[in-house]
Amino acid sequence: MTERKARGAAERRARNERGGTKAPLAEPKGRAAVWTDEGGREERAPERGGKTAGQSAPEASKFIVCAPLRIEARAVRRGLGGAAEVRATGYGLPRAAKHAAMLADHPFGMLAVAGTGGGLTRDLSPGDLVVGTEVSDGTSTTACPSAPLLAGELRRAGLRARAGRVVTVDHLVHGAERDRLASGGALVADLESAPLAAAAGGRPVAVLRAVSDTPQRPLLRPGGLAGGLAALRSLRAAAPVLARWAAAVGPRQVLLAGPRSFCAGVERAIEIVERVLDADGPPVYVRKQIVHNTHVVAALERRGAIFVEELSEVPDGARVVFSAHGVSPAVREEAERRGLATVDATCPLVAKVHAEARRFAAEGYLVALIGHAGHEEVEGTLGEAPQAMALVETAADVARLRPDDQAKVAYLMQTTLAADEASQIADTLVGRFPAARGPGSDDICYATTNRQQAVRAVAAESDLVLVAGSANSSNSVRLVETAQRAGTPAYLIDSPADIQLGWLAGVATIGLTAGASAPPAVVGDIVAALRGLGPVEVSERVITTESIHFSLPKEVRQ
Ligand code: SF4
Repeated sequence: MTERKARGAAERRARNERGGTKAPLAEPKGRAAVWTDEGGREERAPERGGKTAGQSAPEASKFIVCAPLRIEARAVRRGLGGAAEVRATGYGLPRAAKHAAMLADHPFGMLAVAGTGGGLTRDLSPGDLVVGTEVSDGTSTTACPSAPLLAGELRRAGLRARAGRVVTVDHLVHGAERDRLASGGALVADLESAPLAAAAGGRPVAVLRAVSDTPQRPLLRPGGLAGGLAALRSLRAAAPVLARWAAAVGPRQVLLAGPRSFCAGVERAIEIVERVLDADGPPVYVRKQIVHNTHVVAALERRGAIFVEELSEVPDGARVVFSAHGVSPAVREEAERRGLATVDATCPLVAKVHAEARRFAAEGYLVALIGHAGHEEVEGTLGEAPQAMALVETAADVARLRPDDQAKVAYLMQTTLAADEASQIADTLVGRFPAARGPGSDDICYATTNRQQAVRAVAAESDLVLVAGSANSSNSVRLVETAQRAGTPAYLIDSPADIQLGWLAGVATIGLTAGASAPPAVVGDIVAALRGLGPVEVSERVITTESIHFSLPKEVRQ
């Protein structure tokens, strides 16, 4: 490997793991899951939750909710309607510690701590819910990895909920102490959660606190009572969601599809923006989302990229990057007219389709572009020869084509279509125009094809397929459709918070993949969240490996 390639690989690895999330290594089927932490050290997945050694099935499904105050226990009990054993564990740290010791000998499968708490940050309001990602009393910390799942489910239930750190203290906090705890990253403080959560002893645990008071509305001030009542109402409303969380607990197998996640075109596009940011400093303008993924866009925005819809939003004299989906000649001409310095991050495989469109049009063909209306790639490709091209989305559109010469029809495809659907439309077109010419080589790119074959392989073995990707990502949406056509329920999720707990109840095997624009770290986040619901064995189904790498445009080559 050359030094340049080695540096590129190291940079890609760093990008994949950026944000402190963990990225999976390849895990042969049947082996315990192994992950790398941020320092590159190997870490074996802890066994947690579900049935522990010597536990009977009824014990493993027993759900205990600890609510410190009687009034809190009553609110939770009313909302739960008998789905759990709700225990009023007593006010304050000493009583919580005493009750936690009693729980050590008690058989149960999962535990939740639910009560009210003091909001620490100024963006919280009475009645807001905080789901603990971890709870700490300063000496011990209990992680609650399923917090994003629970917080997402609460929000879908119409409640204001956030996931964040919970701190347990031995006295009510006021004024500057709130600010000090908030500056340490905590969202809410309480007097009981840490010892109670620790009593879960590695079984699935959730910590839910409803905010009763905030820095602006302290407890013993006018409005304090109203804040407490708002918190109790939220607790009661949240209780049925806690029951759904408990119903989703269980051991699982996760089958990772390979290949998944970033393709060479996406890697290249992100690297181009990063290199322009490094060279020019912020702000750097990018026309349209560089790739269709919220995490990638947000990460680049944090570094100073500004995403605009049109060049009219770019100031004179600025540098602008064209996205991986490509642009029409009209956009290039506008940039030139305005004297903007441009860097083109169009994927070379999209550029190939543009070149084919120009060639067919120049030879007098009517060019049918099989693709989806409104997608940026389609708009850019159609712009190459608007007078000679027609968009074909369905077989019915083929019947509407009116070429001047029946022998001069050609077709091209958007790079991210579902291969089986696109070839059906192409067959219809060739059926109507037997002399129709297709692209020299497949337009649907290698990354799209490989990911669709891989998701089909895991769908065949799975009860449920999850696809990491953003809603506007064409190739990610096609992966969902591919898995569904294989007969397996499949859903698109941008992050663990999008996983609906109802999807998981009774599901033993989950197929997991990511669209070509979704960062590998999101897959790690999803597996980590699922581990919060019980032991997860991760294995991989690799249908092929990819080694394609595209060179960078001259403007950003060093
Ligand atoms: S999905 Fe295919 S066409 Fe799109 S950026 Fe990736 S390699 Fe290029």
